[in-house]
Amino acid sequence: MKRAVFPGSFDPITLGHYDIIERGLGLFDEIIIAIGVNADKKYMFSLDDRKAFIEKAFEGERKIKVMTYSGLTIDFCQEQDASFILRGLRNPADFEFEKAIAHTNRKLSLIETVFLLTSSGKSYISSSIVRDVIRNNGDYTSLVPDTVRI
Ligand code: ADP
Repeated sequence: MKRAVFPGSFDPITLGHYDIIERGLGLFDEIIIAIGVNADKKYMFSLDDRKAFIEKAFEGERKIKVMTYSGLTIDFCQEQDASFILRGLRNPADFEFEKAIAHTNRKLSLIETVFLLTSSGKSYISSSIVRDVIRNNGDYTSLVPDTVRI
C-alpha cells in the first residue's frame, strides 16, 4: 500500500493544494492530508474549520484521510506507516525551501519526498494571499474550493 502524507497548515486549503492532492491520487493508494498544529502560530481559521473545509472538499473520496498532527512530519509518517511525503512546487523559492527540508527528512528517516509541479495557472495561489484577500473583503472564491466559506 503506497501511502503519502500531504502536510501543511491549510489556512485555508486553496485550489493549488487541491490540484496537487487530486493529481497525487493517481500516484498513491492513500493520501493523508495532515494539518500541522503549531501552538506558536496564529491562524485565520480554527483547526475545526480548516479540517471541515478539506473534509467537505474531498467528501466521498475513499483514498483521502484528513488528520492533524504536531511535531516532526517524519515522526507522523512513521506512526501512520506512510513512506512518502507529497509536496507541491510553485517557484524557485519553494524549491530551495523544500530541498533543504527533504534532505533533512531523508537524513533522519527513509521517507521519500515526492514533488509535483504546480499546474499552470495555479502557481500564484497561496494561503497567505487568500488570507490577505479575505482580510480586505475581496472576492476569494475563485482561489479556493467552494467548501471554503467564511
Ligand atoms: P505551509 O502552510 O506549511 O507553508 P502550505 O499550506 O503553504 O504549507 O503548503 C502545503 C504544500 O502545498 C506545500 O508543498 C506547498 O508547496 C504546496 N502548495 C501550496 N500552494 C500551491 C500551489 N498553488 N501549487 C502547488 N503547490 C502548492
